[in-house]
Amino acid sequence: MQSKTNAYWLDSKDLIVKVSEEWDAFALENSSPEMLSNNVLGLSIWNFVTGDQTRLWLNTLFGYERIHGKALMRPYRCDSPNEKRFMEMNVSMDGKLLGVRHSVIRVEKLSPPLNFEFSSVKRSGYRRRCSICNRTEMGEKWMEPGELLESEKKLISPIKVIYTVCQDCKLLLP
Ligand SMILES: [Zn+2]
Repeated sequence: MQSKTNAYWLDSKDLIVKVSEEWDAFALENSSPEMLSNNVLGLSIWNFVTGDQTRLWLNTLFGYERIHGKALMRPYRCDSPNEKRFMEMNVSMDGKLLGVRHSVIRVEKLSPPLNFEFSSVKRSGYRRRCSICNRTEMGEKWMEPGELLESEKKLISPIKVIYTVCQDCKLLLP
């Protein structure tokens, strides 16, 4: 991964009005041409956030920042099939715009790789996965990818998930 920090800015209606210089390089690195700046500028951020709980979590953070104006930082994960990516999200007001910066703090190899397939609607047989810490719910526990593999030897990849926010991550809200 080349680009370490990626940022976007929202107007008061949550429309993406600006992205960082590295944005397009980042989209291409992640094989997401649909995320190139030309395709996202002018659109609402909520087109790109999956799961009601995740939207609520993010919206609370944005709302708090707009009212209090004191920069906020929250850790989160953005794992790929082969890597655990430890990230940080910084939210701060930039004049009238809300700036959201995503930075990679460190990366750990994930072996064997773990693939997830998500559904945006609740379905039977789908497990809950936290979009903030990327842990997956197994019985009563929220598990890291490594724990998942240990707990269930015959884990079928891709693991079918719906995105939510776990209790621990709800506590990260201001
Ligand atoms: Zn979580």
